[in-house]
Order: sequence, then structure tokens, then C-alpha cells
Amino acid sequence: MEKVNIPEIFAEDVFTDAVMQQRLPKSIYKQFKKSIEEGKDLDLATADVIANEIREWAIGKGATHFAHLFQPLTGVTAEKQDSFITAPKADGSVLTAFSGKELIKGEPDGSSFPSGGLRATFEARGYTVWDTTSPVFVRHDAAGTTLLIPTAFYSYNGEALDQKAPLLRSMQVISDSSIKLLRLFGNTSASRVAPSVGAEQEYFLVDEETFLKRKDLIYAGRTLFGAAAPKGQELDDHYFGTIRQRVAGFMKDVNEELWKAGVTSKTQHNEVAPAQHEIAPIYANANVAVDQNQVVMQTLKRIACRHDMKCLLHEKPFAGVNGSGKHNNWSLVTDKGENLLEPGSRPHENKQFLLVLACIIKAVDKYAGLLRESAADPGNDHRLGANEAPPAIISIFLGSQLEDIMDQYVASGSAATSIKGGVLATGSSALRDISKDATDRNRTSPFAFTGNKFEFRMVGSRDSIASPNIVLNTIVAEAFDDASERLAQAEDFDAAVDALIAEYAKEHKRIIFNGDGYSDEWVLEAEKRGLPNLKNMVDATEVLGEADVVALFNKYGVLTPTELKAREEVKYENYSKVINIEALTMIDMATKQIIPAVIKYTKSLADTVLAVKAAGCDADVQAGILAQVSDLLKEAKAALSELEKVAAEAAQQEEGKVQARFFNEVVFKAMDALRAPVDKLEMIVDKEAWPMPSYGDLLFEV
Ligand code: ADP
Ligand code: MG
Repeated sequence: MEKVNIPEIFAEDVFTDAVMQQRLPKSIYKQFKKSIEEGKDLDLATADVIANEIREWAIGKGATHFAHLFQPLTGVTAEKQDSFITAPKADGSVLTAFSGKELIKGEPDGSSFPSGGLRATFEARGYTVWDTTSPVFVRHDAAGTTLLIPTAFYSYNGEALDQKAPLLRSMQVISDSSIKLLRLFGNTSASRVAPSVGAEQEYFLVDEETFLKRKDLIYAGRTLFGAAAPKGQELDDHYFGTIRQRVAGFMKDVNEELWKAGVTSKTQHNEVAPAQHEIAPIYANANVAVDQNQVVMQTLKRIACRHDMKCLLHEKPFAGVNGSGKHNNWSLVTDKGENLLEPGSRPHENKQFLLVLACIIKAVDKYAGLLRESAADPGNDHRLGANEAPPAIISIFLGSQLEDIMDQYVASGSAATSIKGGVLATGSSALRDISKDATDRNRTSPFAFTGNKFEFRMVGSRDSIASPNIVLNTIVAEAFDDASERLAQAEDFDAAVDALIAEYAKEHKRIIFNGDGYSDEWVLEAEKRGLPNLKNMVDATEVLGEADVVALFNKYGVLTPTELKAREEVKYENYSKVINIEALTMIDMATKQIIPAVIKYTKSLADTVLAVKAAGCDADVQAGILAQVSDLLKEAKAALSELEKVAAEAAQQEEGKVQARFFNEVVFKAMDALRAPVDKLEMIVDKEAWPMPSYGDLLFEV
């Protein structure tokens, strides 16, 4: 078997800092670094030198094209490819070229990207701008090799049309606010603080041939019909189970591609549902992590095809089995390497940590709806607040140790002890006793403290992790600033810190919940506590229009009111479009595949009944099935007509919130009403006669 040497192949497709140092003249390299550190623009002459080196390096890797990668509000990565070719010379020969201008700035004719009204179709101009803090790299695929440049995307008027621009702005904001707070604690050495982010990515793999027989998977990315298979995830035999060879081969290729692309692919395992898996890299700076997560998703899809499989990134491809999400692990780390979320061995004495924690608690409580919104996506509606975890209610799990410290603060204004983890006795001389963490985990919490980071578990599997990080960075920055302002005026600093921790712990206690977040009792309890429960994307999107949210983003320059309004509009529009596609797909499948198949089946049943009777036998069973099928067919046909009617009505609604609501409240219900009889039919109709692969075929035959 071919050997893989990780250090040897790692980042071989990336124009890393090391490569840059090696290839660029010293002065140019220095200037480049300085421009990043000081946040200054790169002059064109310097950019020209860098671009030329990048071109030579990329061509050495086989690149023929370059592309600015950007993340428009569609949620997926977009790119426009240009080759390095120049106009032919007099003798007919051509050269390759790549200028500093082409590196720094792109002008994709992006008038068809969603802009929420920020630009009309005739205003085609949009600009992509190189994010110098995320490295360029090459990708090898069927198109050959392409040099990819991570960028942010703006309208002609300078409004952010993507996820990257506000993300970078929010990173600046949280850095500045963190430093201000750290200075008050006497930290004079750190000069920057960056959010560190590690994204765990869940996905499904299905056989490509099977996939292609399902129009719903092709058009909607999820099954819109489908009766449950006899077996689901009830035995818990898939989670962490042995990885099937076909999937293992896929994972091997994914890892190698990711390592070459500089993504630190680290963990892989089977997930809860059959055919469901997870991959996680080691954390990185937020903007790099966001870019790399896009690379991970693209790579999963690309490599799956190479193995005759399809990778499903939808949040809920199959009803009745676990859906897919993304865990966004988030912490704050100084340029000196100090993690502000590290409690240390005696957390009750770590005042800086406790204040940081209290600020985060305050921020998450104050903006719970906004954090929930950052994970809103039509697919995620099937997870959050629906049949599975996590709930749509934001709460924080601190673990027994930190909750106890916060309780001490609430009770007495300070904390004197930290609960210790103790020892886990293995009870066997062959096994060493091990020391335990001070705190157990809670998988049901949407926002859980896990050792030295918070894990936000609501994010949809298909979504960019930019949104939740934009929100976390900005809301926590505001809480830090509030605290700094109070502390700067304090006469007795230590007493003021204690007072603030106690105040925040008291005021925002309601957001802390260590119990079972999946339980019905929690929904009632959360309501009593006054916590928002935004069950669907339309409800969640409304938060973007709330006055305090608009003011927050505006105050910090992360999103102007206009940019925010545009995002709100894009979300409504996106919701309506997605549900519309799903409704039309159901209509198409029911009309052209399912109903005709059932009609054929009733004919064969009727023929059988007649033939059996003619032979002088009792045909009660056959006639019974025929009656049952005919009844369900009737129900399905009526539901289909209703869905057609409401889908047509939806098109007539006023665009935006009104239309999205209509889709959510009316069309969605009609879809469920059609699915119910069809799924029952699938259970009685001869498998040979059913026009598409079953859940069993999809989930158990990879
Ligand atoms: P868990 O078991 O808590 O889910 P893992 O160690 O599997 O944790 O890590 C999950 C993800 O969190 C990984 O991407 C990991 O790199 C990332 N991570 C670990 N520590 C931090 C941290 N301090 N800040 C941000 N992300 C982190
Ligand atoms: Mg985790």
C-alpha cells in the first residue's frame, strides 16, 4: 500500500508563509507582512512582485487558471476562472501573466448574486478584494489546476455582499475590545486577539447511482418522500462504528487532498445515523477556518464523485434519522498564545477568565435571538426546534465546576472554591486510574463550554460558519467594552471585577441550563425564563430588523443598517425559493412518478382479483389491498391538488417576509399532507413497482 507522509505533503498546494519568505525578495516580504500587521493597503508595485512569484509557483504546480474565491450570500463559494494566457505576440506565441492588480482586485460580473436590493440588475459591478490573511492555494480537479485567491466581495458602492467582509470587520472589533480589557488587567504585551475556530462537519454519503434515481435529492438535496427503513439508528451501532471500506477509501483521499491544501484534517468517524460521518480539522484563526470549511465541503463533494458516491450536506436529508450540523468551536487567543477562555487549574481565582466568561454569558443572553438567527437556514428548520437536537432555544452549558463558581458569585459576590475532577478508578490492575475532567459534557446544549472554548452546535451542515462567528465576535466585543468602561472608572479594580462578575451572573442566570435540552420540560421552563424560542427561519430572520441588533452592528461598523437590511431580505428570499423548489419537486415526483406507478399497481391488483375470482378462489386479501391502495391514492391526489394550488398562491404573495411566511405556514403544511399518504403507499406497494430507491437502499447500501 502506498505510504502517506503527512509532514511531507502538508500544505504542498499552499503558497505558505515559508514559501513566500523563500521566494520573495526580503524587502517585499517585509512590506507585505507590515501591511498585514498595520492593516495598510498593499502598494501596486509590491503586489506586482508578489503576483509574479505566485504565478511562477502556481504554474510550477501545473496551474493554468486563477480565480478569486468569494462567499456571496448564497452560502456557497463562488469563483470565476481566468487563465494566465496573454494575447498572442506578433509571431503567434503566447505567454502567461498575472499582475498585482489581478491578485488584489477582481471584478466578477456578479449581478445575479443575491444582494437584497443593494444593487439592481443593471448595476452589474461588484469587486472581490484579496484577503491577505488567508493564504492562496492551488486546487487540482477535472478542470486541471487552478490558483485560488480567498477574497471578500463588495458592491460598486462599497457595501459588503458576502460573508467575508463582515467577518473580517468583526475580527478587528473583537481584537480591539479584547485588548482594551486585557490592558485593564495589566497585560501590556499582547497586541492582537484573534478568535480561534474549529468546525466539526457532519455529512452523509450515498451511492451515486441510487442518488441519481431520486429527483428530490437531485433538486432539493434532501428526500421529500420516503418511508422509514426497518432499521434506523436505534441500535447506536453506527456511531463510532467500524468505517466501511468504501467510505474508508473516500476518507483517505479526502484527508490527503485536505492536507495538501493546508487543511489540518484531524478527526474522522461514523456519526449517529447510518451513512452519516464527521470530519474535523484543527482550529485556526476564524477567517482561515471559515475558508477552510468551504474547502472541506467542496473536497467532500468532489472526492465523493471520484468514489461513485454523493456527499449530502443538507441538514436533514432523511426524515426520522439524525440530521447534520456543524459544531463551531470558538475561543479567543492573543498573539502571545494566551487563550482567554482557559480557566486554569483554579478557575475561582482566575478573575480575568471569570470576567470574560461572565461577559460571554451576558452577550449570549442579550442577543440569544441573533445567535439563533446566525444558524437559520431552511434545512436547519428540520433540526432546530423540530424533531431533534439542538433545540431552537439558545442556552449555555457551563458544566458543574463553572456553574458552581457562578452560583457562588450570585450568592455571595465572590467565589472561594473550584470543584475538582477527581480520579476515575478503573478497577483493574491492567488499567491505570485516570484523572477526570472537572465537568461532564452535555450534548444537548446548543452553546456549551468544553474545557477552553465554547462550542456552538446549532450551525447547519451546509452553511458557512461565517455568520455565527460574526455574531459571536460582535456581541462579545460589546460586552467587553461595557465591562472595560465600568472597570476604567473603578477605584478598587479587584472589587469592581468581582462586582461585575456577580452582576452579570445574577442578571443573566436564566440563559444557563445544564439539563436535558432535548426535553419538553425545557421548552416550558425556557418560556418561563423568557428565553426566545424561534422555531423557524422566518421567525429567526425577523431578529435582523430589531433595533438593538441594527444598532449593535452599526456601532461596531460590522454591518451598516443597509447591509443588514439586505441580508434580511436575502434570507426571506432564500427561504421562499428553497421551499418553492421543494414544493415543485414534490409536485413533479408525485405527478410523473408516484401516482402513475400506483395506478399501474392498482391495475395489476385488479387484474389479479379478477383472475383469482375466475379461478374460483377467494380474492379478499387482494381486494383488500386494492381498496387500501385506492384510498391512499385518492388522498394523495387530493393533497397534490392542494399543494399545486397553494404553490401557485405563494407565487402571488408580496416578496420578502410576507411570501416567506406563506411558504412556511401554508406551503410547508401542504407538502407534509402529500408526503403522508405517499409514504404509507410505499409501505404497501410492491417494491418492484415503486418508482424510486427506498430509505433502506439509500442508507444501508453504500
Ligand atoms: P470536542 O471533543 O470537545 O468536540 P475536539 O478536540 O474534537 O473537541 O475538537 C473539536 C474542534 O474544536 C476541533 O476542530 C478542535 O481543533 C477545535 N478546538 C480545540 N480547542 C479549541 C480552542 N481552544 N478554540 C477553538 N477551537 C478549538
Ligand atoms: Mg465537539
